[in-house]
Amino acid sequence: MTDTQYQYIDGEWIEGDSDDEMTVRNPAVPDDPLATFPRADREQARNAVNVATEASETWEETTPDERDSLLYDVADLIDDNVDELAQTLTKEEGKAISSSRGEVSRAAEIFRFFASYARTATGETIPSSDPDTFTYTIREPLGTVALVTPWNFPIATPSWKLATALVTGNTVVFKPSSQTPMIAKRLVELLELAGIPDGVVNLVVGSGSTVGDELTMNDGIDGVSFTGSTGVGRQIAQAAADRGIPIQTEMGGKNPQVVLPDADIEDAADAAIGGAFGLTGQACTATSRLIAHEDVVDELTDAVVERAESLSIGPGMDDPDMGPAVSEEQDETNFDYIDIAKEEGATLLTGGTRPDGLESGYYIEPTVFTDVTSDMRIAQEEVFGPVLSIMEASDFDGAIKMANDVEFGLSSSVFTADMASARRFANAIEAGVVKINGTTTGSQIQMPFGGMKASSSETQKEMGQTAYEFYTHEKAVYRTDP
Ligand code: NAD
Repeated sequence: MTDTQYQYIDGEWIEGDSDDEMTVRNPAVPDDPLATFPRADREQARNAVNVATEASETWEETTPDERDSLLYDVADLIDDNVDELAQTLTKEEGKAISSSRGEVSRAAEIFRFFASYARTATGETIPSSDPDTFTYTIREPLGTVALVTPWNFPIATPSWKLATALVTGNTVVFKPSSQTPMIAKRLVELLELAGIPDGVVNLVVGSGSTVGDELTMNDGIDGVSFTGSTGVGRQIAQAAADRGIPIQTEMGGKNPQVVLPDADIEDAADAAIGGAFGLTGQACTATSRLIAHEDVVDELTDAVVERAESLSIGPGMDDPDMGPAVSEEQDETNFDYIDIAKEEGATLLTGGTRPDGLESGYYIEPTVFTDVTSDMRIAQEEVFGPVLSIMEASDFDGAIKMANDVEFGLSSSVFTADMASARRFANAIEAGVVKINGTTTGSQIQMPFGGMKASSSETQKEMGQTAYEFYTHEKAVYRTDP
């Protein structure tokens, strides 16, 4: 019998109450649905918030030892099920199976990293101006938080939000993307197996405009952590600001890789290919603009085109260099932007069509444009597909100006042998992540992650040593003993 119970509320797996059925499709074989089930409705989301609010009284009283041992158990369970989880992820999202395995293992690592914070996330003792008064800060959980996530890292992103929220004593209502509910369900099943108490983690799978909207507007929600597109993120941030609750939004990108004349061109080309096409361009940190100094632009362009044309494309389960786009909608967006770029006068060097021999599935060849200028939409808007724009700069300052001339500011990279130029780049670039001789994609758990400008609300970075701060209230205590 097919599984239709995708909502997890108060420790029970139940069906969605809405009349709206959703079908999960494998982007490599869209005609063969993976699952069909009813979405949650607004009332169920409301119920999940009530349940989580009730559970928060006992969850916030748990000891650090109880919370860390539970999160370590979740990490072990993820590790024990890497292959099965990776297959689920690849089937519904489409990425190459080796990338899915990497993401699943990273999810385990994330739970372990944040588990250790149960015993160390803390306030501070601060020197007091008054010898009779002891001054210190304490941190307390917000209460119940809504976690709203996208489809492109469908186990890693929920994991870093869940682990951080739970370790600091918050209860959770988790709303994953409707594209990737299966891996979300498996993650919550593992939390259940690890012994998460009823009501502490609740999963509601439904549309953004009903379930997502309820979670951001409901008075029982004490904080919202959102990852997704800039349009939706700004809407949620506005709603949260009106209610005066903490909000964290990590959003889109238009990430530049700058290549200076003294760079190793082969390394720069490898990085651009990995960053632009590695996850079918479906990473918020994907390289979408390759800004090359005029002295090296021709050599770099040849190297990039040669590599792009040698990439293998196919179903994620065959572990190609590049899988399909996640959905029909994203597939259409990719082809729309190719038309837009051509109409704007960009020159198509390679790609832009469906690969031969792949009849079904949302495939597109790795696509490279040149003669791209900052006034073009292809240089400004996030495609979220495997489309790389090459832009030419005449000097360092011109390259920086071009790199910053977008509304986004998530990730960036510079290739150079000169560390003085690298330092100037790190200072001048408007981006939350800066790579020197590295690809714009990829990050380390212990480093803070998040953007600037339209890529982030910049309220508190995710991951890193202080990520837990978002999920806590800080109180300043002045203790004068009688
Ligand atoms: P999306 O904004 O369409 O959806 C993200 C989540 O928000 C989904 O769960 C969706 O159902 C929900 N949602 C939609 N409308 C809502 C509403 N009105 N109220 C509440 N929730 C609502 O994004 P997507 O297509 O799932 O993901 C791709 C986008 O995510 C890209 O723009 C990408 O750059 C961005 N992203 C950013 C990061 C980052 O860390 N900066 C990481 C991954 C993806």
